Amino acid sequence: MKQKMPRLYIVIPCYNEEKVLPMTSGMFLEELTSLISEEKISADSRIMFVNDGSKDRTWEIIKDLSMKDEHFIGIAQSRNRGHQNAVLAGLMEAKDKCDITISIDCDGQDDIHAMTAMVEEYLSGSEVVYGVRKKRDTDTFFKKFTAESFYKLLNKLGAEVVYNHADYRLISSRVLQEFAKFEEVNLFLRGMVPLVGFKSSCVYYDRHERIAGESHYPLSKMLGLAFDGITSLSVKPLHMIMSCGMVVSVLSFIGAIWSVVSQITGSTVAGWASMTCIICFLGGVQLISLGVLGEYIGKIYMETKHRPRYIISERTEDHD
Ligand code: UDP
Ligand code: MG
Repeated sequence: MKQKMPRLYIVIPCYNEEKVLPMTSGMFLEELTSLISEEKISADSRIMFVNDGSKDRTWEIIKDLSMKDEHFIGIAQSRNRGHQNAVLAGLMEAKDKCDITISIDCDGQDDIHAMTAMVEEYLSGSEVVYGVRKKRDTDTFFKKFTAESFYKLLNKLGAEVVYNHADYRLISSRVLQEFAKFEEVNLFLRGMVPLVGFKSSCVYYDRHERIAGESHYPLSKMLGLAFDGITSLSVKPLHMIMSCGMVVSVLSFIGAIWSVVSQITGSTVAGWASMTCIICFLGGVQLISLGVLGEYIGKIYMETKHRPRYIISERTEDHD
């Protein structure tokens, strides 16, 4: 057990959520006060709403809440920047003020009560606790199928993501200090947090339906996030061009031999063999060249991210 009660900041991105906030804000407060009364977190813990450039009354509601109860606080982004950026803004704002953060959507889809288990995991030594969806009964077959295939594909491409975990997670401020050194602008938080390392664990919960309002993640945005996830975490697609080039070159070589043999045995029209040889040869050479370019672009791409090259998690005592 850690001696001091940790100060918790619950970070909640909100975009056009005037229908949902009046309902869920009470549920968040209830969970926070029950954690405080169980002496799992300190009394000065906070619920931080991040208004992501909403066009409705969301920010007014947040300001009202913060006047009524000191546990509610809010920050507002200058314009809509998307869910991932809103969560990051909240986490970076919170990292110097608290000991732990929990990020969660404001629509009540993720089980708010799972926070107790997350804090307990932290108290027993985990620095990152991932909220993992047990079942996806409330999702449509299409959403479930595409989401689960996406997690599998990402893992195949070498990106480390926790299966069926989205953005409901506890992160300690210590991990956030290290995370702040990841300077990339294309954010895919669920793939980036595992890169920081440190001791982590999972808490399982059931996902519900949205309490009110509508999802802001239509298929086009989901595909965008999936594509961002793959291209931010993996340069494997570039390696694939290289492998493809190799295979095509080998096939071209066989094709060239075949056309020469056909020519010699006299079973072709004049000019066919030379044409086929040229096409096969150029196809292979072009793909290999693209692959080589891709390898360099991949390296440049990774360099431009300025990710930290190492992160130290522990040190023995210095007896100097
Ligand atoms: N959200 C945001 N900015 C956006 C879109 C969404 O901050 O541009 C917030 C939204 O208010 C919610 C969370 O991100 O708290 C998840 O959005 P939503 O519930 O619409 O997505 P879904 O659960 O359907 O994937
Ligand atoms: Mg939702």
